Amino acid sequence: MEDYDRYTIARAEMVNEQIARRGLRNPRLLRALQRVPRHLFLPLALRDHAYEDRPLPIGMGQTISQPYIVALMTSLLALEGDEMVLEIGTGSGYQAAVLAEMARMVHTVERHEDLANAARSRLVRLGYYNTQVHCADGSLGWPEAAPYHGIIVTAAAAHTPEPLLEQLAEGSRLVLPVGDSRGQILQVWTREAGRFETQDVLPVSFVPLRGKYGWSPEDWQDLGGAAEP
Ligand code: SAH
Repeated sequence: MEDYDRYTIARAEMVNEQIARRGLRNPRLLRALQRVPRHLFLPLALRDHAYEDRPLPIGMGQTISQPYIVALMTSLLALEGDEMVLEIGTGSGYQAAVLAEMARMVHTVERHEDLANAARSRLVRLGYYNTQVHCADGSLGWPEAAPYHGIIVTAAAAHTPEPLLEQLAEGSRLVLPVGDSRGQILQVWTREAGRFETQDVLPVSFVPLRGKYGWSPEDWQDLGGAAEP
């Protein structure tokens, strides 16, 4: 069987068994996950594992999230198609591609230059022209294009970074894991009439958010977290 067929079938099984069966049934979300070729966001040696129910290493000590977590975080943003979205922690660019399928424009910020460059060329090669990858400290958000109709952080924050709340548009949501190296809670912040409401969703496990409003390597490791480049 050709690769194209093999991966397309594996992806359909992933969408049905890991996503829809666990209760995420929004047709736009399922279509987006069916369209993005997750295997092309992974190192060659790991491509055949792309559609398994788990996170995978993408280099520089970083990981691409389990498909279900990508789907859940995306669905919590409640996107309708015309939004300007911000992602912190581009990594491979996979989450950005899923967002690009569901929103008008995606700005994504990555602090590792090698990861940012690889993700940028991958997204262009795959035709995701409505994404912009920036190499910077994403704990500061990306003020140039604010406000955003949805913000997603794919690294663990100790506290919700103030700049991200400031860059959130009225009526919009910020989704992020908050906690330490022992584990985090996925939180949703909603901005309504100038006030913020927060809701806890489920326990998760992410690599640390660094930068001005993120974890210092020492504090993260003090609680048993892995050292990383
Ligand atoms: N969303 C990614 C996976 C994210 S892994 C994907 O779909 O593949 C978390 C990423 O956050 C890592 O690449 C890490 O380098 C990045 N990161 C951590 N702190 C950051 C910061 N302050 N600014 C930007 N990126 C950061």
